[in-house]
Amino acid sequence: MRDTLLSVLVLVVILVASAVITSWFARTMYNRCASCGTLNAKRRTHCRSCGVETGSSPKR
Ligand SMILES: [Zn+2]
Repeated sequence: MRDTLLSVLVLVVILVASAVITSWFARTMYNRCASCGTLNAKRRTHCRSCGVETGSSPKR
């Protein structure tokens, strides 16, 4: 019974960790356009979809 609880706990930890890593990776590699929500690569200075300037917070 305790083994089941432990494996469920491990599974939850792995899921949460992967979600955190994925969101961290997305935030590190991409900027989300403030006006249309398109993900743009960090090196882009303007949105590839609507042309609005991105990267308002470059050092975060
Ligand atoms: Zn845009």
